[in-house]
Parts: sequence; structure tokens; C-alpha cells
Amino acid sequence: MPKTYSSAPAGERQETATCALCGSTGTLPFLSSAGCRFVRCRSCSLVYQDPRPVFEDLRRRYGAGYFSYELENEANFFELMKLGLRDIDFDALTEGFLRPRAFLDVGCATGMLLAWMREKGWTVRGVDLCRESAQYGTGNRGVPIFAGTLEEAGFPAGFFSVAHFSHLIEHVPDPRGFIAEVRRVLAPGGFAVVTTPNIDGFQARLFREAWRSAIPDHLTLFSRRTLGRLLDESGFAVRRIVTWGGLARGTAPRFIKGPADALAKKWGFGDVMLFLAVRDASPSRG
Ligand SMILES: [Zn+2]
Repeated sequence: MPKTYSSAPAGERQETATCALCGSTGTLPFLSSAGCRFVRCRSCSLVYQDPRPVFEDLRRRYGAGYFSYELENEANFFELMKLGLRDIDFDALTEGFLRPRAFLDVGCATGMLLAWMREKGWTVRGVDLCRESAQYGTGNRGVPIFAGTLEEAGFPAGFFSVAHFSHLIEHVPDPRGFIAEVRRVLAPGGFAVVTTPNIDGFQARLFREAWRSAIPDHLTLFSRRTLGRLLDESGFAVRRIVTWGGLARGTAPRFIKGPADALAKKWGFGDVMLFLAVRDASPSRG
């Protein structure tokens, strides 16, 4: 089964990680894959890489090679993101939002989703660590994309009605700090739409270290429970969780894959999960 794109150049400086969810350092080995080691927190069961590369070295991974991968797959990823938004009835849910409505996409790659949202009348802003992707999206689609991290972008407090980040939070070294910044830039009552691989899903359990999401670029592998807890503790109320994908393409005949995928979705053990969470009503500080 093909793995998700990931590169881990030799010679990166490593650092020790602590649990982003509970701060504990007590861990059990979880799995090792492609030279990286995932552990499970003894206290809260969060799965994360320890040790891991320092951020300045991680940042270098998202260069020209990453841009080629993003560009090659942009149409596929765009279709999957649209399906996710459709599954949560995004248009109906946000219809009543006050105008102008501002949509933030973090990890927006080449900006295809941003261009589509702008067509639908939204004010859009993107953020991507990959400078080449940001330049491509800005140059070819005319959507404003900041090259760097969300924290570096420094958006005004309460600016956005929706913050969308698909397949991003598993790459972030400090997910708690990241979610705090998402909350700060969202208006009270605004939405966070979060998509990430599901470590409790059927495929993760079946394939273990061969799972397509057990890769060096993924620093944290969330479950419904661990991502739910992070959002709960960060000033969000989880309103919907959807999961998709029971079996990877090519691992089972279609007459098995179809029903398996439907069951995975119904029971929440799909390979990828989407959370819709609502930001609490208290104002942002700073
Ligand atoms: Zn923990």
C-alpha cells in the first residue's frame, strides 16, 4: 500500500518530545516505521513521535519536493476536502454567518480550496509552510497565502468565521499551542474544521507500521478521544465527527470494500476523521 508522501533527510537534529495533551513523559513503545519511533502516552494514550527532529529541520522538509507532491495531487485532495465539507452540511451550517465571512485554510497547499471558497463569496486567507506552494497559489490563483506557520502569520484576533485545516495538525510540533492560536483568530461561535488520520481506525490497527499514515512527517497520530480532548480543553465544543475509509484501495475486492467502508463510516473506525468544533463565546485575548 503506498504511503503518504514524506521525506526525512539524514542529519536532522533530534529533540525529546513530551505529551502535547497532558504534559507527561511516561510512554510505552507504540510502533517504529521508516526510521521514526512512535510512543503512546501512559497517562492519556496520545500517540506521538519521540524523539523527533527540531522544528528548523522539519521546516526544510517542506520545500520543492513537497510542492511537486502537492501540485500533482491538488485535484484529488480538493475533491476529498469538498466531500468532507458536504458531509457536515457546511454550506447550510454557515449560511447564517454574518457578512463578510472569512475562511482560513491552514496547510492550504496550492490554494485550490481557497479559490473555490472565494467563488462562493468568502473572504479567504491561506497559510502554508511550503514557500513554493504559497507562491504558486498566490501567483496562479490570486489567493493570499502566507508562507510560514499560523503563529507567524499573526492574524488579528477574531478575524475568521471558519478555520479549516485538513491533514495539517498531525504535522504540527505543538498541537495545543496551534489550537490556541486557531481559537484566537476565530470569532466567538466560529468553526474549526479539522481532518486528520485516525490512529484508532481499522486500517491503522490492521497495517500497524505499514499504515500509510505512520510516516516521519506525522508527529502526532490522533484518535477520536485524544483530538476530542484537545479541542474540549482548548475552548471548543465538538459538534460533529465523521470518519471515512474502512479499507485502502486495492486491499479488498470491491464487494467487500464497499460495505466495509460504509460500516467504518457508520461506527467511526474509518481511516480519516473530520471534526467540526465550535469556538466558545468568550473574546480572544490579544
Ligand atoms: Zn499524555
